[in-house]
Amino acid sequence: MIIPKESHLTPEQERDLQSITKEFGIELMKINGETRTIYLMIGDERQEEMLARIGGLDYIDRVDMVQRPYKLMARDSGLATHKVRIDGKVVGAGFTVIAGQCTIDPKNPNYFYETAHAVKEAGADALRGGVWKPRTSPYSYQGDVKALDILLEAKARTGLPVDTEVMDPEQLDIIVENDVDVLQVGTRNALNYGLLREIGRKINGRKTCVLLKRSMHMGKIEEFIMAAEYIVAQGNPNVMLCPRGTTPAMDGYRNHPDECIAPLLKERTWAPVIVDPSHSVGKAQYVPFACLAAASYGADGIIVETHVAPRHGIGDDPKQAVTPDVLAKIIRDARAIHELQRPHLEHLMTGA
Ligand code: PEP
Ligand code: MN
Repeated sequence: MIIPKESHLTPEQERDLQSITKEFGIELMKINGETRTIYLMIGDERQEEMLARIGGLDYIDRVDMVQRPYKLMARDSGLATHKVRIDGKVVGAGFTVIAGQCTIDPKNPNYFYETAHAVKEAGADALRGGVWKPRTSPYSYQGDVKALDILLEAKARTGLPVDTEVMDPEQLDIIVENDVDVLQVGTRNALNYGLLREIGRKINGRKTCVLLKRSMHMGKIEEFIMAAEYIVAQGNPNVMLCPRGTTPAMDGYRNHPDECIAPLLKERTWAPVIVDPSHSVGKAQYVPFACLAAASYGADGIIVETHVAPRHGIGDDPKQAVTPDVLAKIIRDARAIHELQRPHLEHLMTGA
């Protein structure tokens, strides 16, 4: 990783740098952090002569040889000061809440509009709504592109930024063209490296963020962080990490709740952690407890399935969506807990 002295290189400096690396068969990937641009070397970066020449450029601060398998996601990488923003608002500056329906029902758009207004009223920062759904059964409702119009209409009516899941490159093109603010990668695609790379490529140069769910298969923490690295290595570091429970499930729950990995993720990476308590516990009555637990564990926020009339919803909404009045209480209490745990998080990060 090449770290310049100033926040950005001039086009001329960039060209000179590129001509050196090219001589040694290295491709340079430009990563545009919020406060600085850094350059990732793709290829054999341990070539003494090349390193000496780059190190000798007066506008280069240093070349970091990161030993960890993830170079960009690490807390001590050149992106340590990067802030992820949703619609201009820094994620984690307060306790960020994304809320809305699991699934937008194209036959009942009014439920979604009412839910959108209600989550805004309850204090949410962004609106979620599933357009296409990854369903375990091929016979269940799979989603409908018509739901995207409803999502965009709700965005226009409320002014809230929106989040939806993409599962393939065709959906990705549609979502990016329509300026969806947060692109969700679900647990089933969390290790679909081709899709992750394609997402990274498509959002490069845009303000779009990605909410990357953790694979449900109890993989190692490094596997989760490396999946994020796939996206970030394409140039846009706006990635949030989302623990959502793993399998095998804890008896009586939908998954095995994993909000407790928030401090671990925060210690190892600079990325904000947004916990998904809805899919982790899978039952509306348990969701408030899991939300408060996420706040206690130092998460930067939560994504909560919410519906004005859960019993009339589709997808996961009938069983796990909370109502907007419950969401309002969750937000009030989770934000208070988030403040209370702050000194403990600072202690973890600085050892002070
Ligand atoms: C969802 O958010 O509705 C969803 C399908 O999530 P996950 O990928 O975590 O199962
Ligand atoms: Mn869902």
